[in-house]
Amino acid sequence: MKKIIIIIFIIILITGGIFIFTNSKKSFQEKLIDMGYNEKDANVISTLVNKNDENLILNSKYNTNIVDILTNKNYKEDNLKLYLDYLNENKKAPSNFIINIVNLNLTEYKYSKKLNNLTNEKYFIKDNLKRYLNYDKGNANKTVTEVNCNLDYNYYENVQETDLAKDNLMIVNKFYYLKNDFEPEDLVTLDDIYNIGTNNKLRKVAAEAFMKMADAAKLDNISLKNASGYRSYNYQATLYENYVKRDGKEAADTYSARAGYSEHQTGLATDINQINDAFENTDAFKWLSENAYKYGFILRYPKDKENLTGYKYEPWHYRYVGTTVAKQIYEEDLTFEEYYAYYIN
Ligand SMILES: [Zn+2]
Repeated sequence: MKKIIIIIFIIILITGGIFIFTNSKKSFQEKLIDMGYNEKDANVISTLVNKNDENLILNSKYNTNIVDILTNKNYKEDNLKLYLDYLNENKKAPSNFIINIVNLNLTEYKYSKKLNNLTNEKYFIKDNLKRYLNYDKGNANKTVTEVNCNLDYNYYENVQETDLAKDNLMIVNKFYYLKNDFEPEDLVTLDDIYNIGTNNKLRKVAAEAFMKMADAAKLDNISLKNASGYRSYNYQATLYENYVKRDGKEAADTYSARAGYSEHQTGLATDINQINDAFENTDAFKWLSENAYKYGFILRYPKDKENLTGYKYEPWHYRYVGTTVAKQIYEEDLTFEEYYAYYIN
């Protein structure tokens, strides 16, 4: 009896050994086919997966999304285990989404169509995700754009002092302010051939760019003159208070900045030629629309972007940001708010 048991035991050991041996002899590709993959997919997987990572695939469940993940242009080899783990828990998630969510290190969020649409947005900002989900305007593009511009807050709420270290690219709007004692150190006075206003100062870099731009425009028989450049905190305070007295606070807020919130205090903004809507119909405006970015200036408060910038369309108000940024803003058709949120902040 004992002998028989020992013999059976030995037979089991031998057949088990043979099984393990033959199976380990099977190529990775053959094992994939055993899992259910067709020959073509098995071929792709075995070509793209590192020898060390083969077991990750063999230990995960059959899912043809794996092929899409491996061939995605944003696939990162080091993240393979994370992709597979996420896929195992979110079986309906498209490969593109899995790549995104893992690469962004947001795997604590479960797959949903809404999340997929948000992460596919060009200007999606990871740190804003919770705010996107809370704000949610139904349309992912609108949600991302508006939250990036802080529109999930009311104007003049959740305000912070702007980051002065951003220098030429500092932002001043209804969410970012300058202190009452802020005055740029390098203001220069524009000569009368470049100026028609009482606020005739700009920061050196902006003044030089403005003069260069005005000189170029002159060659095209266009006259560009600064009508209002740097404005101090106190000047802006008086200006705003007078508008409030005249039109009331609500109306004044649509076209005039509260003290500390005016871009004119940066010394990087200039109102050109005439501060009224008729400026839109001038040759000077047409020239600026086509050329200002080449000199580092952007139209700061464009038409149809009033909610993003917080201001009515101002065809006369230009902001110096330097030529590289101005070109990008021009080409991508962004407001400075959108640019700042995505590229600078
Ligand atoms: Zn202005």
